[in-house]
Amino acid sequence: MADNFIHSIIDKDIESGKYGGEVYTRFPPEPNGYLHIGHAKSICLNFSTAKKYGGKCNLRYDDTNPIKEDEEYIKSIEEDVKWLGFQWDKRLWASDYFDTMYEGAVDLIKKGKAYACELTADETKEYRGTLICAGKESPYRNRPIEESLRLFEEMKDGKHPDGAMVLRAKIDMSSPNINMRDPVIYRISHATHHNTGDKWCIYPMYDYAHPIEDAIEGITHSICTLEFEDHRPLYEWVLNEIGWWNPQPQQIEFARLNLTNTIMSKRHLKKLVDDGFVDGWDDPRMPTIAGIRRRGYTPEAILDFGNRIGVAKANSKVDISLLEHCIREDLKAKVASRNVVEKPIKVIITNYPEDLVEYMEIENSREVPEMGTRLVPFSRELWIDGEDFQEIPQKKYFRMFPGNEVRFKGAYFITCNEVVKGDDGKIEALLCTYDPETKSGTGFEGRKVKGTIHWVDAKTAVPIKVRNYGYLMVENEDGEEGYNQDSYECIDAYAEPALAEAGAGDRFQFFRHGYYIADSKQYDENNRVFNRIVDLKSSWKK
Ligand code: ATP
Ligand code: MG
Repeated sequence: MADNFIHSIIDKDIESGKYGGEVYTRFPPEPNGYLHIGHAKSICLNFSTAKKYGGKCNLRYDDTNPIKEDEEYIKSIEEDVKWLGFQWDKRLWASDYFDTMYEGAVDLIKKGKAYACELTADETKEYRGTLICAGKESPYRNRPIEESLRLFEEMKDGKHPDGAMVLRAKIDMSSPNINMRDPVIYRISHATHHNTGDKWCIYPMYDYAHPIEDAIEGITHSICTLEFEDHRPLYEWVLNEIGWWNPQPQQIEFARLNLTNTIMSKRHLKKLVDDGFVDGWDDPRMPTIAGIRRRGYTPEAILDFGNRIGVAKANSKVDISLLEHCIREDLKAKVASRNVVEKPIKVIITNYPEDLVEYMEIENSREVPEMGTRLVPFSRELWIDGEDFQEIPQKKYFRMFPGNEVRFKGAYFITCNEVVKGDDGKIEALLCTYDPETKSGTGFEGRKVKGTIHWVDAKTAVPIKVRNYGYLMVENEDGEEGYNQDSYECIDAYAEPALAEAGAGDRFQFFRHGYYIADSKQYDENNRVFNRIVDLKSSWKK
């Protein structure tokens, strides 16, 4: 069964025997930054398509621009692909095909299908025409083949400076598709390439290089994003005119992923890193795969998200709350709950014995009873969450306020009798009493209370730091997205002692607060920092 339009195309190709039943895809990143969640969609699509049909998928670095090699980017790309659970067939470099690309270009010139053009960049642009106006032929278009061959060789031999001339495909200056108006296929750039060094001072353009890369590798289905739809005739032209490969790969376009509250371009993300707006490519707020991983997302949640958004032929923007829904769904079945209180307020139970400690048995997960229980110490002095007390309660507030009785989850009914304040007016403690009859698990049915709150025993409380994150991008009053200057807070909190056993990378639900992960980079026994993966409430509607 085809589960998207790309698979329908593949099903037809398998039926017709076009590629002998084979499916070979590739993921072709330019190693100029870290991968983001948009790339994750492309990775899932390419690798799982190959997997579904028993085919293969290559990891191919698109390094046809003489960029500086950055080991950091290469390492991160490979780590990210593997983390998502995929393994490439071959790891390849587009620059390894420069010789073939050059031979192909010479072949095109010999066939009268390409020519050396000496128009300046501005002139070339002017001659190209517009959407409503046909282009004008270059005066160099009909120069003798021998002359173009000689000039192209001179370009290769470094006899001309950058920008002096280019090699152009000879197609059709009046084509309604501007990409077909004699596109540039080679340019001069006296730059050192990380792989080929100074061997080349001419470099192929993407539209010329990409089909050749695919053809050399025997790619059957070359999946790319929608912006390349208008480039497909050129993709096909290159393969048809050079004519060396049969069958030829076919380009198929799908809609790129756009997400609300998210910026998704390596160039912009790099700027955030370079400007110090975020703490590196793997800042937990970043939409990079590295950032999302450090934030605490699981590969399962990303794959689930990829499946739910599907593969479309038209661009759209996906609500980020769907991604959040996916991680909640994944974690709720996997992680244990712990009591953590933020902005803590001290509770003293005045009628509870001074030295008594009781160990309350509390379930680890409401959703998964198989996750068992743990023993949580309870004694005379406790911490409760700042959110769970209001001195003057607002309407419909059922948690703690003077005179009100609430359930301390897994323990007793407790009534707040008095608020003790310091000279500065700040609350120092709430003096409370408990009802020994109401112990949890004893079947007490005497009366009901409306509020249930969680708590942490003061003597054994573990101090932790909680990092809460907002979106990097938020909408302003005009409905436009801009950088959020307030996307991060780090607050002190207390946790029940069981949380002291956590190691870096461990995930928990903090009861009533959200899902958290012990930071993979900065967590240790003296600095227990937890990142909020996602809060508990879902704003996403099916
Ligand atoms: P960016 O503009 O973010 O730098 P890019 O397209 O230049 O992205 P590449 O490294 O060239 O990045 O892309 C590698 C592959 O990932 C390409 O096949 C590209 O189409 C795909 N890709 C990039 N962004 C998205 C996205 N938002 N959704 C789906 N696929 C994407
Ligand atoms: Mg790019």
